Amino acid sequence: MDKKVRVRFAPSPTGGLHLGGVRTVLFNYLFAKHHGGDFILRIEDTDQTRFVPGAEEYIFNCLAWCGLTPDESAIHGGPYGPYRQSERKALYRDYAEQLVAKGLAYYAFDTAEALEAKRKEIPNFQYSHATRLQMKNSLTLSKEETEQLLAAQTPHVIRINMPADETISFTDMIRGEVNFHSALVDDKVLLKADGMPTYHLAVVVDDYLMKITHAFRGEEWLPSAPVHIVLWKHLFGLENMPQWAHLPLILKPDGNGKLSKRDGDRLGFPVFAMDWQDPRTNEKTTGFKERGFLPEAFINMLAMLGWNDGTGQEIFTLEELVKQFSMERVHKGGAKFDYEKAKWFNHEWLKKLPVEQWMPEVKKQFEANNITITDDKKLIEVIELVKDRCSLFSDFVQQASFFFKAPEAIEVTAIQPKWNEQKNLFFAELIRAYELMPLWKHDELEKEFKEIAAVNDIKPGELMLPLRIMLVGGKFGPHVFNIAEIIGKEETIKRMQHTLGMLK
Ligand code: GLU
Repeated sequence: MDKKVRVRFAPSPTGGLHLGGVRTVLFNYLFAKHHGGDFILRIEDTDQTRFVPGAEEYIFNCLAWCGLTPDESAIHGGPYGPYRQSERKALYRDYAEQLVAKGLAYYAFDTAEALEAKRKEIPNFQYSHATRLQMKNSLTLSKEETEQLLAAQTPHVIRINMPADETISFTDMIRGEVNFHSALVDDKVLLKADGMPTYHLAVVVDDYLMKITHAFRGEEWLPSAPVHIVLWKHLFGLENMPQWAHLPLILKPDGNGKLSKRDGDRLGFPVFAMDWQDPRTNEKTTGFKERGFLPEAFINMLAMLGWNDGTGQEIFTLEELVKQFSMERVHKGGAKFDYEKAKWFNHEWLKKLPVEQWMPEVKKQFEANNITITDDKKLIEVIELVKDRCSLFSDFVQQASFFFKAPEAIEVTAIQPKWNEQKNLFFAELIRAYELMPLWKHDELEKEFKEIAAVNDIKPGELMLPLRIMLVGGKFGPHVFNIAEIIGKEETIKRMQHTLGMLK
């Protein structure tokens, strides 16, 4: 590539960051870094009615958590700022006026009431080549009338004058040639009555001014592409236009339509990168981070939603992804989201990364469940014992809280039916023996257990489950003597006595 690659992620700060949004960031980032280019974050906040306090900060936090650091942004700075469109307001009008002067856009003075009346009159009304001559705009008014209205500061917008009968084409890096018929595209507003540009004008002007070479965004923006192509053609010449790629959707687990936040709520999995609380409704939505995902796993999982390197490899570090990524290998079709597979990625990453690196996250999960961990060494030992059974940080609470706190519920019903006096005596003897143990080590404990079982003529297998339930509360957990070793002599004996009391 001759020009330095410059890509951008251009979110509107309107709410939580959906995993589809993070995947767009990721593919932008991977492409830029693969080609030694720059990744720019531009905040598209021209729609003041959709502004949500905190949403911008949230986007930055999500990117920081994922380790996808922009080279240029409103907080990282850069030579093409400002990187917030609301701070660039003054520069857009001139471009809209240039288009008006060339007859490629026009002033429209229609009031909200007039538009409403038209909508009632014409079903599915669109302000377009078919209707524009019935409206109050600089195409239907005389030059003098238009000038008078402008001089009197009559509220108005500037609309694009979409060609009535043209094929608009461009080459998408994923889809190949894409064609639109201009007659189906309405005359989008470019500049609003408050002087703010709409997204359509701002995205084109800023991609030009920021020297963007490649623009990748979600497939839902494909219908806007013809407007952008026409603007590019008339403002800056098509040869300067970035190369487009419209990324396939992330689909619901059953493949029926785009994955939404509601699907996550319904099926019990996160859809946002991080926890998000909507300040307007106070509604809280869980994120992958807080649900117990490692950023490495989250990124890896997202990369595989719609891309692979063709070798069957599934586990990639960010550096490996940068090396291997190419837009040609992004699929055209949507990618089904599979939460079980997402957890599998996390499980693999938990095994791959040193425990010390992510132990604090597990600690936080315990703390959130009112279990205070004072001994990090013990926590690491515990994590090593149970990590094969855990996919998420939160799983550790379920799999290992008994190491730190006596179980609240004891599943005695699982022992009761086969309980008898002989077993009762065995455990009484075991407690006595354990009280005298000089060395509290799992192999010593197991040896003692087996010897006493042999003397009492009971198969150790029949005693193992009761002991497990006494220590853990249920039929789960790692090797029972490892558990006893870690919780210690006093606690082991206390828990045995407690359950024996319940069995009488
Ligand atoms: N502001 C648009 C959004 O919120 C960006 C679309 C684009 O990248 O062109 O997603």
